[in-house]
Amino acid sequence: MISVEEAQEQVLSRIVALDTERVTLLESLGRVLAADVISDIDVSPFDNSAMDGYAVRFADVRDASEASPVTLQVVDHIPAGVQPEIPVGPGQASRIMTGAPVPDGADAVVMVERTRAGSNGGSTGGTVEVLRPVTPGENIRSRGEEVREGEAVLLAGETIGPAAIGLAASVGHDTLLVRRRPRVAIVSTGDELVEVTVKPGPGKIRNSNSHSLAAQVLQAGGEPYVLGIARDTEEDTRALLKRAPEFDLMVTTGGVSMGDFDVVKKVLEEMGKLDFWKVAMRPGAPQTFGTIGGTPFFGLPGNPTSTMVGFEMFVRPAIRKMAGFTALARPRVVATLNHDTKKKSDRRYFLRGRLTRSPGGGYTAAISGNQSSALLTAMHRGNCLISLPEGESFVAAGTEVMCIRIDIEEGTA
Ligand code: AMP
Ligand code: MG
Repeated sequence: MISVEEAQEQVLSRIVALDTERVTLLESLGRVLAADVISDIDVSPFDNSAMDGYAVRFADVRDASEASPVTLQVVDHIPAGVQPEIPVGPGQASRIMTGAPVPDGADAVVMVERTRAGSNGGSTGGTVEVLRPVTPGENIRSRGEEVREGEAVLLAGETIGPAAIGLAASVGHDTLLVRRRPRVAIVSTGDELVEVTVKPGPGKIRNSNSHSLAAQVLQAGGEPYVLGIARDTEEDTRALLKRAPEFDLMVTTGGVSMGDFDVVKKVLEEMGKLDFWKVAMRPGAPQTFGTIGGTPFFGLPGNPTSTMVGFEMFVRPAIRKMAGFTALARPRVVATLNHDTKKKSDRRYFLRGRLTRSPGGGYTAAISGNQSSALLTAMHRGNCLISLPEGESFVAAGTEVMCIRIDIEEGTA
């Protein structure tokens, strides 16, 4: 039996980032950028107004106040999208809208709320009274403030979020080069399994693992391919496992423990290479890992929570590494355990738990329901895995424990 960390290291040592593909901006959401994104222009391309108001010469209005306003001649009206042609001379101003280019001669914008319309309603040909001074450059967004032409606005390795998509669009990219998402084959094993739409007959249960796993794959940044159910025979298991090389990764559930019909490990050894098959953890010690035709293979245990915890500890980091992410560990927080827990001392425990903020600061961790690995409700109600170390057979209430936040992404906290 190896430790969780040894198993994780073995897995990740076999995983490399996938190749790249070019996708549309929207398809790039959540993906890892594979090349810097270079701007073809200055953004913004010109000095422009940050306010609706009047473009002025700062020197003209430096002494303006409510008591003694400065009156300026309005020489132009500049909407957004129009290049102004009339310069602002001494004693003059141009009415200007947000985003419109600042005219020659002007070096600040007074917001409209700090002016009073004079003759002609403050429009071209009339006057405006400025009630407050401005500083040089006030309310002007300068050319190239976001990025300069020829410079990178996004860097390879960064994760694409909505703001990155906006930046890419602003510098003329309608597609992006990103890491490919791993294609993950999902196989459930078991003679007892029936599909969701079937009411289980005597001795049968519904196949829920294929569905929870597909969701976990999707959430990890992979593309799930549910291949179906293998019955507990070597022939049936072989038939599905031999499809592994069509995918970047294969995950099976069930058939890896000590039962008389647990054939996955045997078939894996015969068709590919077995790296490890038992990890010192609970739930789900029979975690199996190897390769089939070069494709990484995970034989997760069949109990629904063991499957999910095994995925979380071993498959999710592998999928993320393939997808190009460098942050592979979920955020962790230290919390105070709120109940006594007995455990087997040779295993790492991952209790399905809920973290809450303690009134005095810090976090409290409590189990989120029945801890049977056959049940999923505690996993559903929980937001973390409470990690209890090997070497302990009893962890008392009040002990500080490490909790793995499974409700937030790697690299975010
Ligand atoms: P196994 O590892 O094959 O012995 O399965 C362990 C337990 O998990 C058994 O009670 C199975 O019935 C259950 N199980 C196995 N596969 C699934 C599945 N796809 N969906 C729900 N439960 C399953
Ligand atoms: Mg089984």
